[in-house]
Amino acid sequence: MDTSRGVAKCWPFRGRRNADGYGQYWAGRSLVNVVSAHRVAYLLAHGMTQNLSSKTIVRHLCAVPHCCNPAHLVLGTQKENMRDRFHLHRDQRGPHPVDTPAQPPSGGWRLPAGDLAALERQALVAEFWQKVDASGGEEACWLWTAASRHDFGYGSVSWEGVHTQAGRVAYALHHGLPLAGIFGDVLRHVCPGGGNPRCCNPRHLRPGTQKQNMHDRMAAGRYARGDKHFATKVRDEDIREMREVYWSAPRGNRPTLVSLGQRYGVYWGTVHRLLHGRSRPDAGGPTGELTRGAAGRTNHVRGEAHRMVKVADAQVRALREEYWGLPQGQRPSTIALAAQWGTDSKTVWNWLHGKSRVSAGGPVGGPAVRTAG
Ligand SMILES: [Zn+2]
Ligand SMILES: [Zn+2]
Repeated sequence: MDTSRGVAKCWPFRGRRNADGYGQYWAGRSLVNVVSAHRVAYLLAHGMTQNLSSKTIVRHLCAVPHCCNPAHLVLGTQKENMRDRFHLHRDQRGPHPVDTPAQPPSGGWRLPAGDLAALERQALVAEFWQKVDASGGEEACWLWTAASRHDFGYGSVSWEGVHTQAGRVAYALHHGLPLAGIFGDVLRHVCPGGGNPRCCNPRHLRPGTQKQNMHDRMAAGRYARGDKHFATKVRDEDIREMREVYWSAPRGNRPTLVSLGQRYGVYWGTVHRLLHGRSRPDAGGPTGELTRGAAGRTNHVRGEAHRMVKVADAQVRALREEYWGLPQGQRPSTIALAAQWGTDSKTVWNWLHGKSRVSAGGPVGGPAVRTAG
């Protein structure tokens, strides 16, 4: 985004744009409910005092859809938006001179006069704190309100490319440290009412040793398993959003599975299954290619039937052993196996070749060498 141009000129968004010309912006999407650069800019510029509902329209006075100059952005209704379009686009599509720019909030616009990275950081920080309930004041515990939790009850979050505890992020942000700056140290919860793992109040967090931390946990009776397993549960609404964002983007312009995985704190293979409806089919949202019909309606094209099958690990392992134990040429087709196991042939292929259910064990792929001639 070019913010060096003052109030009168547009600030063009330099990132990706959608088919209608609007900037597409991931950071801060939970603040504005959509992936939309100018909406994020509006919110940041106004100091995050309001949370935009998806019904709220942010109008462009300049008629330039990818403009992020807060002086060109005002709230409005769908009706006003339509009227803008009519007036502004009657002659030609923007840019239109902005005679009466929007007024800054008291204290001035709060957009960093910086680049996308600074904007993204600001949006992510705001998004993080929005998941923390700090309504009790400085002394109270600030509980992590998002659904993603660690086994021990810690908030679980993806931050600076690392999957970590929400409390660590809160601590790092509060002290102006990069996450890596507290890496290695254990953060102890020293809440007044006893350590509360969900708490993200930086005042209740102290660097400590692993030993102290274990002692804290045992004292609180929470010591169960020593592993680092993250029992991340992605909310239905997040799955729906992930599907909508992914499938509504044009092919070639879709976010990568890895980036989605980082955003929602799950493994990319899980993202793949979620997107295609192979897991959590009931969460809603599209699970396949979207096409626009003649009437502009969005149709959902389903490839295969998305049946949920739960095949035990032992069965997958046995299937692999049996299949790969047979000489090539005598192996059953994946279609036949799919019918037998009540799933689709792609799933069977994935099992056999270890592209899914890796942990089930057994051989994954024989020496499938094909020599020409
Ligand atoms: Zn503008
Ligand atoms: Zn606390």
